[in-house]
Amino acid sequence: MHEVDVAVIGGGMAGLVAARKTSEAKLSTMVVASGLGSTVLSSGTIDFLGYFNDRNVKKPLEVLGDFVSRNPSHPYAIVGVERILEAFREFREKYDSFTRYEGNLETNETLLTPLGLFKPTLLAQSSIMRGTRENLEGSKVLVVGFRNLINHTPVLIARSLREIWGVDADYVKLDRSETQPVPLSLLLESNSEGIIKSLDEHNLGSYDYLAFPPVLGLRRTEEIIHEFEESLGAKVFEIMSFPPSVPGLRLQQLLERPCIENGVEIKLGWQSTEIRDTGQGCKIKIVENGGKQEILSKAVIIATGQLMRDTINIRGKNGFQASLNLQMERYFETDKKMRLIFNGKSFKNIFAACSGISENYMIGLGTSLCTGYSSAVEVIKYLRGY
Ligand SMILES: Cc1cc2nc3c(=O)[nH]c(=O)nc-3n(C[C@H](O)[C@H](O)[C@H](O)COP(=O)(O)OP(=O)(O)OC[C@H]3O[C@@H](n4cnc5c(N)ncnc54)[C@H](O)[C@@H]3O)c2cc1C
Repeated sequence: MHEVDVAVIGGGMAGLVAARKTSEAKLSTMVVASGLGSTVLSSGTIDFLGYFNDRNVKKPLEVLGDFVSRNPSHPYAIVGVERILEAFREFREKYDSFTRYEGNLETNETLLTPLGLFKPTLLAQSSIMRGTRENLEGSKVLVVGFRNLINHTPVLIARSLREIWGVDADYVKLDRSETQPVPLSLLLESNSEGIIKSLDEHNLGSYDYLAFPPVLGLRRTEEIIHEFEESLGAKVFEIMSFPPSVPGLRLQQLLERPCIENGVEIKLGWQSTEIRDTGQGCKIKIVENGGKQEILSKAVIIATGQLMRDTINIRGKNGFQASLNLQMERYFETDKKMRLIFNGKSFKNIFAACSGISENYMIGLGTSLCTGYSSAVEVIKYLRGY
């Protein structure tokens, strides 16, 4: 039987942030993930309190206090303001490698969506953050598309920019055979000259911005943008996308990297079916394609997301005979220490971190980041005895 200090169930934003933090504290950590969750499908921009009282929020920290007092069971209220700030600060500090996130913790920027609308978000990959509404207003924009690429409609984006937002925008479609964003971004990563050549044929001199779908490489995005800007003489940014999403894939890889560097074993494709608190630790049953294993861990963090969680039965000891079927429950509750609550009592060694905590609020990557971070801090405190 595998023995670890911490078993994290779920390999999205919440689970991987938690695993990085516990492994950094020198606790042996394993991640069990039945698959890739919504993190990899997302547009990769980290939303944090973008709307409140039916309005866009520009300065989220100014309304956070009011928001948590009106919504005491929201994950932000459970995590608490101070720790939310720590979670975001650590994200900026610890995840700064091949993909860089930009954004100011105090301000939501409004960024262009694949529908040609703008939405508020706190942090975004730097290639996307260049296309804020503020930057585009008063500029001349060319929306660049690829003839066969799915889920990207430059004509719609250019029309929305013009007709809804009053931006001087046009579009062009380049002839490429790739239909999927990931192969196109890999192609661009190895050879961007072809695209530069095709764009050079269009008179680009008068455009301030070239707006691309998010396919400008997986790991060399900054270099590719620099190359394009130098050769084409206009500023370049990426628009958000629907799945399959290259920025979602960049984020997933960014989150995995420090876990792998810290020696976290990631068991991808394994589903956890049962967690049993034995009093001396938790026995976790995991299954994969007919294979079965058991893990013994001192603490467990459940980070199974909201959309795609698979059933886990949780059985307690010492007064708990809890059998909690996560698929049957619409959501589950935690206390302030991120410990799972069942029938009004908290498990001492089973923690939860994900967008499935509490009622059905609007949730996103910001919620998973904060709860993932906070659950790891609490697990470290629990295992160190303070
Ligand atoms: C198309 C789309 C676009 C989005 N765009 C944005 C956006 O622009 N901004 C934003 O902030 N948010 C966005 N979101 C929401 C955001 O992606 C999610 O809120 C966030 O990724 C959830 O992260 P998580 O770690 O909580 O869960 P997930 O990323 O869903 O991870 C859950 C993990 O748990 C695993 N799992 C589940 N059950 C079990 C089990 N029994 N055993 C083992 N593993 C299990 C899954 O396989 C997966 O690895 C978007 C979501 C989608 C679907």
